[in-house]
Amino acid sequence: MTDRKPLVAEIIAVGSELLTPFRADTNSLYLTEQLNNLGIDVKLKAVVGDELERMVDCIRGAVGRADVVIATGGLGPTEDDLTREAFAEVLGRKLIRSEDILEGLRQRFARYGFKMTPNNERQADVIEGAEVLRNARGSAPGMFVDNGSTLMIMLPGPPREMTTMFEQEVLPRLRERHQGFFMARRQLRVSGLTESAMDDMIAPIYKPYANPTTTILSGLTGLEVHLTAVSSTADEAQQLVSELSARIEEALGENVFSRNGDALEQVVGQLFTTKGLTLALAESCTGGLMAKRLTDIPGSSRYFLSGVVAYANQAKIDLLGVPADLIETHGAVSAEVAEAMAQGIRQKTGADVGLAVTGIAGPDGGTPEKPVGLVYVGLAYGDQVEHRKWQIPGDRERVRELTTTLALDWLRRKIVRQ
Ligand code: ATP
Ligand code: MG
Repeated sequence: MTDRKPLVAEIIAVGSELLTPFRADTNSLYLTEQLNNLGIDVKLKAVVGDELERMVDCIRGAVGRADVVIATGGLGPTEDDLTREAFAEVLGRKLIRSEDILEGLRQRFARYGFKMTPNNERQADVIEGAEVLRNARGSAPGMFVDNGSTLMIMLPGPPREMTTMFEQEVLPRLRERHQGFFMARRQLRVSGLTESAMDDMIAPIYKPYANPTTTILSGLTGLEVHLTAVSSTADEAQQLVSELSARIEEALGENVFSRNGDALEQVVGQLFTTKGLTLALAESCTGGLMAKRLTDIPGSSRYFLSGVVAYANQAKIDLLGVPADLIETHGAVSAEVAEAMAQGIRQKTGADVGLAVTGIAGPDGGTPEKPVGLVYVGLAYGDQVEHRKWQIPGDRERVRELTTTLALDWLRRKIVRQ
């Protein structure tokens, strides 16, 4: 194994608008992905307004810590575009107006029939010793500076200009300086366990490994285990990830529903497709959320026949054929009604599998016997019908999202065994 350390990068998003609720810094997401693919680790991201002093501070800190510093934004022609000045100050170098760039700008303006105002000339200012990065999709060129210990890269703010410049001008330069370094990733998605229960099972496995590193994320669509390995060859990085992944997968068994980051609804769809089965849904408290998640997947028409939102009792009776006395005797939120809904939608649509959910999403409607968060899921398959019951903690949104996840996961586990 290699003992080389991955390069460390920091990203600085420049622009006061990025400090408002109206614009988000998305450039750094793209850049992080690109840098990670090269095996470069992003250790810090910053957003700084168009203010020289804070920019200088921010850049100075980053240059002191990182091997690669990439800034986006603030390269335009206006007074508040100060990225060039800020880097020049940190480097203690002069800005020199480039005749070549000026000529290019003049031609560009002439080509589009615009008048070139004097402030545009600032875009021709180049930091002493910097390489100029061509902007194929806009006017402001970027810059690339290697001061011997840190690579400094200045890119424009508009995403299409930034990504094109990164691909055309920055990638080749980074590749040349960072040969023989590779990163491999694996994203396991897990259901049916709490975060702490899962960590209890797998921490003894991944803790001894410094490479790959392991990160655990949790959300309403399940748990994720991210593994990242770095090595001097792509094969070895991949092998490191595969080895640890296999051990974690073995410990988690059927709880792992995806090894490539696929969503639960994608995995369910793949199962239905390969087994040649069809599905119909009857939803009450999830209000169509299950149908929404399943039909988010392109190609879902191959297996998804229909989804009925039967909210009122009468709708359950009329649309799904649930016997009225069943609702009267057991209540709409009951195992009996969940099963009847599943059977009903299966019969009405002719699907192989009927899945139904009925529950109390809250905030109102709970009783001591049937509290908010109580949900029943019914599953009809062939002449069999079953149900599961869950008590889900949290608010309305959480109850609806988690019900959907739990129901789809139960469906997955059932279909896998068919
Ligand atoms: P211009 O020549 O257009 O002025 P510039 O390099 O000066 O380019 P900015 O003025 O900082 O860039 O930003 C231009 C636009 O690009 C912003 O209005 C914003 O929409 C977008 N932008 C800037 N930074 C980011 C970012 N980090 N993430 C997403 N969009 C961004
Ligand atoms: Mg600008």
